[in-house]
Amino acid sequence: MKFEQYNISPLIKQSLEELGFKKPTDIQFKAIPSILKGDDVLGIAQTGTGKTAAFAIPILHLLMRRSHHNLRRQVKCLVMLPTRELAIQIAQVFKDIGKHTELTILGLVGGVDQAPQIKKLDKGVDILIATPGRMFDLVSQGHIDLSRVDILVLDEADQMLDLGFIKDIRDVMKHLPARHQTLFFSATIDEKIKDLAYSIVHNPIRIQISPKDPVSKNVTHSVAHIAMDDKRFFLERLIKEFPNQKILVFVRTKVRAERVFAAMQRVGIDTLTMHGDKDQSDRLKVMNEFKTGKVQVLIATDVSARGIDIQGVDYVVNYDLPDIPENYVHRIGRTGRGVNKGRAVSFCCPEELPILEAIQSYIGKPISVMTIEKTDYVETITFTEDTPNDNWQLLLDEAEKEDATRKKKKKK
Ligand code: ADP
Ligand code: MG
Repeated sequence: MKFEQYNISPLIKQSLEELGFKKPTDIQFKAIPSILKGDDVLGIAQTGTGKTAAFAIPILHLLMRRSHHNLRRQVKCLVMLPTRELAIQIAQVFKDIGKHTELTILGLVGGVDQAPQIKKLDKGVDILIATPGRMFDLVSQGHIDLSRVDILVLDEADQMLDLGFIKDIRDVMKHLPARHQTLFFSATIDEKIKDLAYSIVHNPIRIQISPKDPVSKNVTHSVAHIAMDDKRFFLERLIKEFPNQKILVFVRTKVRAERVFAAMQRVGIDTLTMHGDKDQSDRLKVMNEFKTGKVQVLIATDVSARGIDIQGVDYVVNYDLPDIPENYVHRIGRTGRGVNKGRAVSFCCPEELPILEAIQSYIGKPISVMTIEKTDYVETITFTEDTPNDNWQLLLDEAEKEDATRKKKKKK
């Protein structure tokens, strides 16, 4: 079935056509009718499968129909997200799909001046897409009234219902009218979070696509066993081998992000960093430079693991393995989006083997190993333009010895 045949406003169909969306994806096909009916929905589908439009299309349609009841433009739909970049991105999707409608859409994030936000809120907003912090500030200052919200969306629902955010969500619920529609979306969900989600809604419809394997089928992923101190040489080599590719590198902490940045700088590789310590204007600038391809390599913490939809990310590198197993799925899901294919590799040092185990048990299968021959390993750490580390000479000697014995054996 094509979008043309859907019973949705022609103004929405027009923008879908402009966006090049012809057919719904699986999750869109299944979720749109339920949302239009007014059901509460828990929608689970792999990364990059179009979950945003799966809720944005029916919400825009429903609110267009109801807009004559909302002349004062009170917030009718609230979408909550865990990071600022995501709130901005999702607001843009609503704006793109809702372009020809009269609905007003606002992305609301912290870290920027609140005066312009207040001005827009005072003029009236139909759809508010927000991170919790700034939203609560403005609720308590009386600039946001949530008492007329019809639809609440928690995207990246498992994270929004997890420890860090659950209090915020419960606070939001207190402000909402008793009757409203609730939609949860994520690529990952566990039993505990599912129970929690069900406890805050009435009879949700669960829609799950490809439940067995949470990893996107468009992503080929492997693990390479590399000593901690050698990781930077392998990253250098990978970046130099794929000079025209967009590469997203994940590290465990902001300190490590800056360290890897410095190591790449020493070998003439231009990279960007993204983490929670940057101020908002820097964060926006970085995302923009990576999006437009001005700089091809972004080194990020898990703040960018979820939801971010950047066209043309070819390669995801887990420079450090993620502490939380589901973040493995989210991180590598930054590539292979829509119909695109992507690749991911994880650099695993001996200390990280238990984390690798946990990830494999989470995704329910072993990750294929990218074998690195000893000679290749040595070549990589000698290929560097950086001052090599202490053990490279040792390895070099060892490899030469091995090579010699192999040759001897061959002669026999
Ligand atoms: P998810 O939230 O499932 O990870 P997104 O909503 O970010 O995925 O969408 C991933 C990509 O797929 C986006 O670039 C989006 O523009 C594209 N997309 C979504 N729906 C369609 C569709 N029906 N046809 C073509 N492309 C689509
Ligand atoms: Mg998403």
